[in-house]
Amino acid sequence: MQVFNSLTRCNEELKPLSNNEIRLYTCGPTVYNYAHIGNFRAYAFEDILRRAIQFAGMKIRQVMNLTDVDDKTIRGANQAGIPLTEYTKTYKDAFFADLAKLNIQPAEMYPAATDHIPEMIELVQKLIDKGVAYQSDDGSVYFNVRKFPGYGKLARIDFDNQRTGARCASDEYDKENVGDFALWKSWEESDGPVGWDSPWGKGRPGWHIECSAMSMKYLGESFDLHTGGIDNLFPHHENEIAQAEAATGKPFVTTWMHCAHLRVNGEKMSKSLGNFYTLRDLIDKGFSGREIRYVLISSHYRSALNFAFDALADARKSLQRIDECVDKCSDGAVPDWAQEHLKRFSEAVLDDLNMPRAFASLFDLVRETNAKGGVGVLSVFKRMDEVLGVIFFGKAKKVELPEEIKQKLEARAAARAAKDWALSDKLRDEIASLGWVVKDSKEGQTCTLRT
Ligand code: AMP
Ligand code: ZN
Repeated sequence: MQVFNSLTRCNEELKPLSNNEIRLYTCGPTVYNYAHIGNFRAYAFEDILRRAIQFAGMKIRQVMNLTDVDDKTIRGANQAGIPLTEYTKTYKDAFFADLAKLNIQPAEMYPAATDHIPEMIELVQKLIDKGVAYQSDDGSVYFNVRKFPGYGKLARIDFDNQRTGARCASDEYDKENVGDFALWKSWEESDGPVGWDSPWGKGRPGWHIECSAMSMKYLGESFDLHTGGIDNLFPHHENEIAQAEAATGKPFVTTWMHCAHLRVNGEKMSKSLGNFYTLRDLIDKGFSGREIRYVLISSHYRSALNFAFDALADARKSLQRIDECVDKCSDGAVPDWAQEHLKRFSEAVLDDLNMPRAFASLFDLVRETNAKGGVGVLSVFKRMDEVLGVIFFGKAKKVELPEEIKQKLEARAAARAAKDWALSDKLRDEIASLGWVVKDSKEGQTCTLRT
């Protein structure tokens, strides 16, 4: 399996360091609000990655952290007047519910930052002992970027052209403001009740130290693969490397992978720009988790993806074509032509997750199955779906319809008889938002549960 390594800027073979198991760390959500679908682009990319690793015959151990203490979570909890843990629980629960709706496979572990403060304190102490970190006058502890010769190797920072030297207390900053970054932040009035005792007084960890401490705890000091959205590359991942490698003297991560942004009108979808949709927003508009997943996974992870409702409507049509084809398929000896499409699908997936090519093979398979019949083709769709996770295999077709759905279907049949297409579409969307899919044929409507 070949992947593009952001550290070397080259395509490389993804080979496990040990045990035929890829140890993968993925930066998880900051649980101060509902994640938006830009965030889910990153998690969907990571899901395709973990599925592809297994598809290629390797084992996977994935750790995804939950950032449940930082400036934003503290501000949210204090504004709501509730304890931090209570505040973040709502968004942790929502996050897991959203992952399930998008059919994202669970990671092996989801450690939360607040459960690992002692490990972070220990790592900060180690960095002080090694002489690469220091305590400033205000009590906070900073990493001295000048003391770590490898600093900037991921983001390729040219130190000679930098105005550096300043200290940066905030977790996020850009390349123009490279400076010493906070490992431990001393307690301030605005932190309210949030704070932990440490050798440097009461305070809390910086964001970057969280990931170094938790990834090394669960995956070892050197592991295979680390991912995130491209905005994580600097400073977050650069700082993770500096902290880990300065502490252990060993290479931290072999391969780094980053997905491009989901954009809206050419700009990154983000909370701060206010141009975002949560998964819930889209589900309320009548789209399914499956349709949203389809949009998120069908482009190449390193290409920017512009979000548009048209793409969701197209996803619905594409999925319908797939469903109708899969319905015609059965088990049996796989025909050579189907095997050939599977081969090309595999090559595409194992070539740096080239999903546009993988989907092209899938649709070639659909076309040829429609022409030649589906005997023996079911297992090919199933094998492809180990990576895609979007195909239905006739699940739950015989489920009894709830009364509310029955009534809407009757109203819709009446609307269609009266050629009131607007009302018919409105009712279809209402039914969809309740989790059901209506299909029309000469025999009338059929309605199935969307899983
Ligand atoms: P955050 O909660 O902001 O730390 O982000 C969680 C994950 O979502 C990180 O991997 C980010 O890089 C990623 N991310 C944030 N916004 C976007 C976006 N618009 N497109 C793709 N990934 C994003
Ligand atoms: Zn991280």
